[in-house]
Amino acid sequence: MTPSEVKRVGILAIQGDVEAHAAAIERVGAVPVPVLREKHLDEVDALVLPGGESTTIAKGLERLGLYEPLRAFGDSGRPLLGTCAGAILLSRVAENHPVETLGLIDAVAVRNAYGTQVDSFAAPADADSANGFAGLRCVFIRAPQLRDLSPEVEVLARVDGAPVLVRQGRVLACTFHPELGDDSRVHALLLGSVA
Ligand code: GLN
Repeated sequence: MTPSEVKRVGILAIQGDVEAHAAAIERVGAVPVPVLREKHLDEVDALVLPGGESTTIAKGLERLGLYEPLRAFGDSGRPLLGTCAGAILLSRVAENHPVETLGLIDAVAVRNAYGTQVDSFAAPADADSANGFAGLRCVFIRAPQLRDLSPEVEVLARVDGAPVLVRQGRVLACTFHPELGDDSRVHALLLGSVA
């Protein structure tokens, strides 16, 4: 591969699981690039919004003036992947402690939808999940659920019937943490949709 063919994948680096995403991006043969400024978006082929705490990340987006640039990034057709808190930020609206969202996935994100009793757990994706995702080990940490999906939102994987990996155009939202462990299928899907 020549250097120009190597894809650069930005990771929003305000807060959250940035380093584990960087490792996953390297595993699929791309270069991770921390993103904290609008100008950094010009230098990447795709972007990851990591898991973490969506209230904290939302405050950072406001402070850094990144809401509109990120919406424009999505509208430009470059692929995005939001995981857990990142999926909340991609949604149309967040419920249960609302935060301003980007509106790039036409669904409602319900924060901490599995309750405080079950802070984190792992479960395999349901057998009827698409694109080879059946059985994928999904790690949930104070995870949201996606509800009221519009017909434009395609469900790629479910756990116990609930959508956990969805796609609208080139935007992927994932309620679990695909960067934990060594299964890089979700990151490979992101990279595969770079034009
Ligand atoms: N519970 C967090 C939120 O609502 C998300 C947790 C995560 O990203 N692991 O922002």
